[in-house]
Amino acid sequence: MNNIEAFERAASVLVGGVDSPVRAWKGVGGTPLSFVGGRGAYLEDVEGKGYVDYVGSWGPLIVGHSHPQVVRAICERAQRGISFGAPSPLETKLAETIRRTFPSMEKIRFVTSGTEATMTALRLARGATGRSLVVKFAGCYHGHHDGMLVSSGSGSLTLGQPDSAGVLQEVARCTAVVPYNDREAVKALFNARGQDIAAVIVEPWAGNMGLVPPLPGFLEELRNLTAGHGALLIFDEVITGFRTSEGGVQQKKGIRPDLTCLGKIIGGGLPVGAVGGRAEVMDHLAPLGPVYQAGTLAGNPLAMAAGLATLEVLASPGVREKLEDQSAFFAEGLAEAARSCNLPLSVTRLGSVLGLFFSSSVPRNLDEVRATEGNLYPLFFHAMVRRGHLFAPSPFEATFVSLAHDRSVLESTLGAALEVFSELAERRQ
Ligand SMILES: *Cc1c(COP(=O)(O)O)cnc(C)c1O
Repeated sequence: MNNIEAFERAASVLVGGVDSPVRAWKGVGGTPLSFVGGRGAYLEDVEGKGYVDYVGSWGPLIVGHSHPQVVRAICERAQRGISFGAPSPLETKLAETIRRTFPSMEKIRFVTSGTEATMTALRLARGATGRSLVVKFAGCYHGHHDGMLVSSGSGSLTLGQPDSAGVLQEVARCTAVVPYNDREAVKALFNARGQDIAAVIVEPWAGNMGLVPPLPGFLEELRNLTAGHGALLIFDEVITGFRTSEGGVQQKKGIRPDLTCLGKIIGGGLPVGAVGGRAEVMDHLAPLGPVYQAGTLAGNPLAMAAGLATLEVLASPGVREKLEDQSAFFAEGLAEAARSCNLPLSVTRLGSVLGLFFSSSVPRNLDEVRATEGNLYPLFFHAMVRRGHLFAPSPFEATFVSLAHDRSVLESTLGAALEVFSELAERRQ
């Protein structure tokens, strides 16, 4: 079976041939590859061809595909029970491990996806404050529940518009959308509606429009405004959590959010999410409080075991340094390769996650991301795939380096990138 046949067969039974839209390559065109294996830095497609993988399952695979320690933990766990639907010391152990790194997460609830984590955090914020309005930032992604599938209206003070069919106006209006990094817009919103705002939710480094860093003072302002108006500050660290040696952006910045959402890395590639925060807020959740939330497979033993094993690998001596070193080498190498071809490329980086923008400056918000030469990205993507290097099939997604991407792997990708950048530079002229 080749990739075309595999995808055609998939598309006859799976909607659009995929279970999550970005996998359909609509952002770059062409037929998606279908994969049968992953090992270390590599993915293997149905035709037996290998690719250096910079998608990393969209973030969880920070130690690489099928790391032996993670595989062993899952297998050993599976032999002693796959799901209990009851308390298990594994959940406690992972929660304690997370809390050591994220002291702001005094109490934790595990769920099965990042979407559920943010959905729960927002319900909790509304339940705990008795207020309805939530503030999010354009270009930040918090999963696919109704209240977050909302885009900004015409002015920065207007309330959200549904960003998907099936999302009610009434629901969208309970989310205000402001530009990322725009302190003044948030301040104006608090001045106008401070009494109604239950929470501000933010990716403290925005990882779903490439990778956009917060401007100095932005996150601090969010902390001050929310605290001053009795609203909660929610950090969605589903991508950034455990991405650097500090653990999260909150450690790096010394900002304590009221609630934090995690996912991806803490499940080591199995389905997981977590919400945690101030005990007094978290205790509003059932069974202690009136805010309902539940999950048949929440805290699933295999996911807990995979997450614990991943965090153990990350905590082993030298691992963080190696990951940091490899990621910095790659980010600098890409920027240097583009520079040598006179191709404008800005590379952002937080630990092992990178943002690549075909632009001479780093964008600060979604409008600026849209104004980059995003039309170059599909050309870059396909030229790299032909050479055996797989980047995200969308210009709005981040690039992930793993522990398995050692110097020689990265050098091979940089060599390919240099060829591709020089082709792109020629086309641009
Ligand atoms: C991936 C992601 C989510 C959603 O997680 P899922 O497990 O896909 O539901 C939420 N927030 C951020 C920042 C993410 O990157």
